[in-house]
Amino acid sequence: MEIPIKSFDNIKQSSFYPFKTYEKFETIKSCCRICPVGNVYNQVVQSSGNKINPKVVIVGEAPGADELEEGKPFIGKCGKLLRQTLTNAGFNDDNSLITNTIPCRPENNKFPQDDSIVKSCKNMWLKEELRLLDPDFLLLVGSKSLKFMLRMQGITKVRGQWYKRKFNGKTIQLMPTFHPSYVLRTQYSKDKAYVQEAFIKDIMAVGKAAGFNDE
Ligand code: URA
Repeated sequence: MEIPIKSFDNIKQSSFYPFKTYEKFETIKSCCRICPVGNVYNQVVQSSGNKINPKVVIVGEAPGADELEEGKPFIGKCGKLLRQTLTNAGFNDDNSLITNTIPCRPENNKFPQDDSIVKSCKNMWLKEELRLLDPDFLLLVGSKSLKFMLRMQGITKVRGQWYKRKFNGKTIQLMPTFHPSYVLRTQYSKDKAYVQEAFIKDIMAVGKAAGFNDE
């Protein structure tokens, strides 16, 4: 039986912190009920893909209803678009991993407005996940991962550009792109072609840098 974890101090003071294996990390993460978000559906959605050493980690926003049901990120309509575009660019479950800025589904899919909740969650789980996985590249999908990973706003302006950040003593390269739900939302607008092309181009560029395609 899982014991709900109610505070970050509980984790940080325990003998298993910092986590030595991804398996241990996932087990403890699944018990997290620290913030109000985690207490709504009482289920943490784990990442999917290579959980040992992915070359690229894809960071979305938060799981929705389909993801909660399936227990995997990016499973619903926009997830299918993302996963198909990733496959076309050479990404697979052996060379990459898909995760989210926060691993719990927010009530009514409303991303938490309180940045401090997201920051503490990210500092505990996403940061620890990246330390254990040690990827070379991050593909930031949408404005929330842009905000919380790069502390930047304005996805339209910065998408498709490379950024460098030192992480655990290693320089990793990050590229923000549009969220697939935005790509779907613009389907009937005048920006359709531009947004779709930009989304594909950015994902291809990250795939190319990682050696997954030679386009
Ligand atoms: N949107 C996200 O950002 N992440 C998911 O897992 C699903 C939809």
